[in-house]
Amino acid sequence: MSIYQHLGVEPIINACGTVTRLGGALMPVEVLDAFAEAATESVPLEQLQAAASRRIADVTDTEAGLVTSGAAGALTLGAAAILTGPNPARMEKLPCCDGFPHEFIIAREQRSGYDHAVRAAGATLVEVGFNEVVSNAGVRRTEVWEYEAAITSQTAGIVYVHADDSCPKLKEVVAMAHEHELPVLVDAAGELPPRSNLKGIPATGADLVSFSGGKAIRGPQSTGILCGRRALISSAALQMLDMDDHPELWYPPEELIDRSQFTGIPRHGIGRGLKVSKEEIVALLTALDLFDSGKFDRQLIGFRRLLQTVADSLSQARADCRMVEPSTHDRWPVLEITVDSSTLGRSAMDVCRALRTGTPPVYVGHVGLREGIVQINPVCLTDAVTPVLITRLLAELS
Ligand SMILES: *Cc1c(COP(=O)(O)O)cnc(C)c1O
Repeated sequence: MSIYQHLGVEPIINACGTVTRLGGALMPVEVLDAFAEAATESVPLEQLQAAASRRIADVTDTEAGLVTSGAAGALTLGAAAILTGPNPARMEKLPCCDGFPHEFIIAREQRSGYDHAVRAAGATLVEVGFNEVVSNAGVRRTEVWEYEAAITSQTAGIVYVHADDSCPKLKEVVAMAHEHELPVLVDAAGELPPRSNLKGIPATGADLVSFSGGKAIRGPQSTGILCGRRALISSAALQMLDMDDHPELWYPPEELIDRSQFTGIPRHGIGRGLKVSKEEIVALLTALDLFDSGKFDRQLIGFRRLLQTVADSLSQARADCRMVEPSTHDRWPVLEITVDSSTLGRSAMDVCRALRTGTPPVYVGHVGLREGIVQINPVCLTDAVTPVLITRLLAELS
């Protein structure tokens, strides 16, 4: 019996990918071992975060880094750091921003539920631009001059959500922002792989970049990374760490928190509820090393073979399978299954629902449901569950 069944919870077959609602990535054994070992001793967290900062800085080619509670936690802390800088009175005040600049400019087309994490720090979003391609009203998207025209004395920074086809390019937005001495905070949560983005996105000059630790990096799903300029990481760290030490005894590593840069020591900041444990920090760093070394690439052939087995087995079902090739060599393909609703008598939505409610429950990717497509993402699948997945798919698609 599985540990989850003991709790009365049925484990599922996850053909959806490293999504948070299904528990994120499956952690490699090296990561789990590191987690367990880290649990056997105590360490001062500011020292551990300083060590993490060195490691993250190295992997991302930035000045400093912080292990956060997911990319969402990184966005809240990043926004908080930009809002307060080194000012302890402002830190004390957040999320109230009365009396100092607190507007973040964002492209209207880059808004999503995740920007709640930025607003949670106290920031107000100011939207600019349009995506006239999506609205079928033209060919233009958001342009750099639109960001620039929205800058006022209340502007604190710019939020940018990174995707392959984000428009305008991050580099152009950063160049304009820096002309106005404004920082840019980037949501790059799901932008790995390609591995090259670890260095490539910060190389645009963006001041702070957030990545998820529990997606392709395969660390604990509750972790994330914030990396970028040392002064901002320092402010973010100060607003996350537990501050209940004696001020005359507390000497954090200068590389993470240089006390001479702060006019006073704040009490617990807005990020106190976003804490990460020593075990999570060590596990994330272990996963980051594995990811950065390219070790996960060895699994790519296995993922492709797994999808091919599923596609071959479905040849007699009322569905068409298509392998969708990844946009980068170090990513896995996904399998798109187009449901023929006229002969099957049920829609892709019906199939998706039936897969979830059957035994064992199967969760498939649902981004293409409107076009009649269910998607199989192999990254959380194993050879052991593949036959069960095939049986369930055949039952619902034949
Ligand atoms: C997944 C995701 C997040 C949140 O990341 P967590 O690590 O789960 O906090 C934020 N933004 C985008 C675009 C994402 O895809």
